[in-house]
Amino acid sequence: MAEKKVAVVAIGGNSLIKDAKHQTVEDQYQAAKETTQHIADMIEAGWEVAIGHGNGPQVGFILRRSEIAARVEGMHEVPLDVCGADSQGAIGYALQQTLQNELFQRGIKKNVATVITQVLVDSADPAFGKPSKPIGGFMDEAEAKRRERELGWSVVEDAGRGWRRVVASPLPKEVVELDTVTALLNSGVVVITVGGGGIPVVDDGQGNYHGIAAVIDKDFASSQLARSVNADLFLISTAVEKVALNYGKPDQQWLDKITLAEAKALLADGKHFAKGSMAPKIQAIIWYLEAGGKQALITNPENIGRALAGETGTWIVP
Ligand code: ADP
Ligand code: MG
Repeated sequence: MAEKKVAVVAIGGNSLIKDAKHQTVEDQYQAAKETTQHIADMIEAGWEVAIGHGNGPQVGFILRRSEIAARVEGMHEVPLDVCGADSQGAIGYALQQTLQNELFQRGIKKNVATVITQVLVDSADPAFGKPSKPIGGFMDEAEAKRRERELGWSVVEDAGRGWRRVVASPLPKEVVELDTVTALLNSGVVVITVGGGGIPVVDDGQGNYHGIAAVIDKDFASSQLARSVNADLFLISTAVEKVALNYGKPDQQWLDKITLAEAKALLADGKHFAKGSMAPKIQAIIWYLEAGGKQALITNPENIGRALAGETGTWIVP
């Protein structure tokens, strides 16, 4: 039997929500179905796959439901870590079922499982000193100040649109369920894990984990996973076929292949990769390659097959 090759595939928001007009659960299921077809191609080609995914809009929806239900019906609110767990379950379900169905149609006997995944962060991470990730709905100033006082929230005024809660975005240190994920991969199960960057937890020093209100970048968490399982490939599937220099400018230049050293220089340059979108992907890949990773690829779902054949995508290599 040929040696197993492990790929960590981080799938972006476009794999679940195409645009603002297609956000229902049924639309998300259809979008998941398209992406999992391309992942099924990889599995058919012999890859063992662990899938990471984003959850930004989905967590936003869950929080909004929670806020409305609390206001209108006096229901208890759902804490952010639990919203993250809910989203891992629901998104995992859509990916798991669509991929399972696709594999069955192709006569491939393989199981797919979603692992509710916690990711350890450092309670001393400097990110906790400057919470910056907006979360949940808009509030008026009085409500924001009340929640700041009574619940210890950090709140900010968001460009004249109202007040919002902000949480920290600490770095991932460890995938808590790593041994489970590895055991599943080793026995040939396709694993869906570190959803939404994982549920951030801290260790109280006595062997107990506690969920916290924070958000881990999903590209960073997927990188952590790729390093931890010694992935042969770290693939970031997003909304663009390739990465560009001077993205969106007249002198834009698509990249076919760059080295780790080139990626570091371009990221440090600061002008090529947008902060909240492409920069974290390049950073995630740099960390993977620095830890001995073999090869990384950025492309969109529909081009995964062509990219793996060397025809497109942006490759980042040691
Ligand atoms: P995801 O949900 O996959 O994380 P993001 O929106 O966070 O998606 O990041 C992908 C987006 O990054 C692309 O759709 C593109 O608009 C943007 N982007 C920013 N800089 C670049 C660049 N240099 N090359 C290509 N895309 C870029
Ligand atoms: Mg993103």
